[in-house]
Amino acid sequence: MKWYKADLHIHSVLSPCGDLGMSPQAVIDKLIEHKIDIFAITDHNSMLNFSTYYKKAQEYNLSCIMGVEVQTQEEIHLLAFFDSHEDGFAFSQALYDSLLPIANDPDFFGDQVILGDNDEIIGFEEKALINSSMWTLDEAYEKVLEFNGFCYPAHEDALSFSIIAQLGFIPQEPKFQAIGITAKCIIENLFTKYPYLKNYTLIRSSDAHYIQDVASGFTKFFINEPTVAEIKKACSGIDGRMILS
Ligand SMILES: [Zn+2]
Ligand SMILES: [Zn+2]
Repeated sequence: MKWYKADLHIHSVLSPCGDLGMSPQAVIDKLIEHKIDIFAITDHNSMLNFSTYYKKAQEYNLSCIMGVEVQTQEEIHLLAFFDSHEDGFAFSQALYDSLLPIANDPDFFGDQVILGDNDEIIGFEEKALINSSMWTLDEAYEKVLEFNGFCYPAHEDALSFSIIAQLGFIPQEPKFQAIGITAKCIIENLFTKYPYLKNYTLIRSSDAHYIQDVASGFTKFFINEPTVAEIKKACSGIDGRMILS
């Protein structure tokens, strides 16, 4: 086993709030500058740009994990990850189908840019990805399991789109092994405010929408290989796997 430095929450140009400067090359240059080994592009409710970032990552021997930031009916953000691209794309399609049929307003939210293999713009997603899925938190969690994925709440120290912000507490079910925290989270303060969060493994990431924020938050995983299965095992400390956040 070895240590891998990971930023598992990065938005691409597909996210309406993602800056156009978040091109595959720019993101990867920044990840290399910060010695990141594993990253995930986690756009809102869609994995349409996964392949282009994945291909670019392969050129540089970086591990690009398939991910997405799901917005549930309760306006809770969950990060979901998949080892199998087939499973991931099938999940992405099911998620897309579960979004309310509302068109994006590019003037207000920004364009939802779809990239081709050479970083060129090949189109714009017209359905508003910033909206919620019709899936509840429970349903979204079950769907992730159905497609053999792993998920956790994206940013529990955030004032919006977190389980605590939306529900006031983290329910017993669904049972998350980990919770995400933002780059700026002071863990001591979080535990003072919510002592029961000590029961969870914390995963810090950048949630970068602008290039200067890529790798501003990261987590180190002591694992066998850069896979979702290994990260999941590390969250439970199985067989000596460890996490530093
Ligand atoms: Zn979010
Ligand atoms: Zn995000």
